[in-house]
Amino acid sequence: MVVAIDGPAASGKSSTAQWVAEKLGFRHVDSGSLYRGVTAARLRAGGSPDEWSEPSVLAVARQVSLRPTERGFIPLIHGEPADGEIRGGEVTREVSRVARMPGVREWVNSEVRRAAAGSDVVVDGRDIGTAVFPDAQLKIFLVADPWERAKRRLVQRLARRPTDAEVAEETERLVQRDARDSMQTVQARDAILIDTTYLTQADQVERIVALARGVGKRDR
Ligand code: C5P
Repeated sequence: MVVAIDGPAASGKSSTAQWVAEKLGFRHVDSGSLYRGVTAARLRAGGSPDEWSEPSVLAVARQVSLRPTERGFIPLIHGEPADGEIRGGEVTREVSRVARMPGVREWVNSEVRRAAAGSDVVVDGRDIGTAVFPDAQLKIFLVADPWERAKRRLVQRLARRPTDAEVAEETERLVQRDARDSMQTVQARDAILIDTTYLTQADQVERIVALARGVGKRDR
């Protein structure tokens, strides 16, 4: 069974997907970690991002891989864990330009399908329910108000309550990334939209788990 969770930046996809996977006993595949991994590997190779060509990005993609863990995968560059590096500010700033390259999307999609093969999975990203697993049994599209998404991201990063000025600045960054990612963020026609603005994460997780169990019963 494939549960696809798509949505914009900082909508809580990855943490929700991880938690849902844990509750269902599925594996979690984070497609964004591959786009981030390729971007980090290309940053290591140097040069101005404005001049990155698609072949030069695809050339470093082979340095990136996923190591299976009990319930998910750790992104590796040259066989070494790179989770901290791929979540850094520079990667976040440059990842959208890499994600727009058709060859990179093809490479990521095949890596995601390979990682997912043979297990029940929860896969999160932007186009999982449309391009990667159009036949997924359950498709969720998570949205939330940008101010709320920015606030959640800052609470996680700063481990304290952010000021309004900080939230405003982060909201601006998020909205810009949404715009850069808009072409590849697609809600499937058969996706269930969940607006998490006024939901706790535990509530979102419960809803998705209940939906997945319903689908599991229906398909048995
Ligand atoms: O989900 P996360 O924010 O880690 O994704 C990082 C970037 O990877 C996004 O900003 C987007 O450019 C790209 N992405 C994508 N398609 C996916 C997953 C991520 O284009 N399925």
